[in-house]
Amino acid sequence: MNYPQRISRLRQRMENEGVTALLVSSLPNTRYLIGFSGSNGLLLVSEDRVSFWTDSRYREQSAQEVQGARVIIPANGDIWTAAARQANRFRTVAVEAACLTLAQRQRLTLPDERLHPAVNWVEELRAVKEPEEVEAIRRAIHLASSVFEPTLEKFHPGMKETELAGHLEFALRQAGGEGLSFDTIVASGVHAALVHGRASSKPIGSKEFVILDYGVILGGYVSDMTRTIHTGPVPRRARQVYQAVLDAQLAAIAAVRPGVTCATVDAAARKVLQREGLGDAFSHSTGHGLGLEVHESPRVSRLSKQRLAPGQVITIEPGVYIPGWGGVRIEDVVLVTESGVEVLTPTTKKLLTV
Ligand code: ZN
Ligand code: ZN
Repeated sequence: MNYPQRISRLRQRMENEGVTALLVSSLPNTRYLIGFSGSNGLLLVSEDRVSFWTDSRYREQSAQEVQGARVIIPANGDIWTAAARQANRFRTVAVEAACLTLAQRQRLTLPDERLHPAVNWVEELRAVKEPEEVEAIRRAIHLASSVFEPTLEKFHPGMKETELAGHLEFALRQAGGEGLSFDTIVASGVHAALVHGRASSKPIGSKEFVILDYGVILGGYVSDMTRTIHTGPVPRRARQVYQAVLDAQLAAIAAVRPGVTCATVDAAARKVLQREGLGDAFSHSTGHGLGLEVHESPRVSRLSKQRLAPGQVITIEPGVYIPGWGGVRIEDVVLVTESGVEVLTPTTKKLLTV
């Protein structure tokens, strides 16, 4: 991971914004900038110095992980007061507007006029991945994909959604997963019509769609994939809806290349579903960036004017949700390359039945 380059890019941004110091309080941003993966820390980046405060629980871990920053462990454990003291030396200090609570702000003794809101400064750097990050994401994706079909063999009609989710999660952990990207979604039958239905105690029936949406963390980076399977023989209508979602997903992937707006990619999926009379049943955005976190910049939504750039890693996940009937979603992770797109998720998109 190229930490020095990340810090120098951030300093460039700070210079453009006219500030000489940035207090980073987002932990994923901290991890991105100096490698620290613990749960308590504050980072101050200035023109000529990078200082990091954490508490004594992380003495050993910070010594092992932190790159390119001076680590300070205040004797009383109060990292906010210690960081505020150093921040006070600067005329203006940028703070991460999206993740500073009022309680934390009050511990920074600087007056309002010396604080400057930083919005997405580090997040925008994170949106474009280094080759090493792409490889880390690729490894997480491959781990997740490797457990998919073996887990389906454990299915029997009447099994609860939570039970199938449990098999999936156990397999991910057994294969070396550090954690889950998010709570595993197993949504079957009418439950599959809920866009973000989690796994419930509902028994999975013998003639319904089951949406499985899950991800694993490996090397700090997340995966995210969705496949929809069918239990028992597939009725004609179900096959049509599945094909429409797959066509929409393939159309959106085909639209991905550097320079196009996220809205264009979103529209490619939406157009296919509208043509099939399913436009209203597609009620969310087409995708999102991912990396250290499962939802990162850019947002692949109807309104997003962000333009894709090589090195961005995004999901493409259109879905159709019909209340009282069920739903279908298909999600891959793709990499924006210099010339177009590479699909990173290797799992088949053929409609599998169990
Ligand atoms: Zn997902
Ligand atoms: Zn997703």
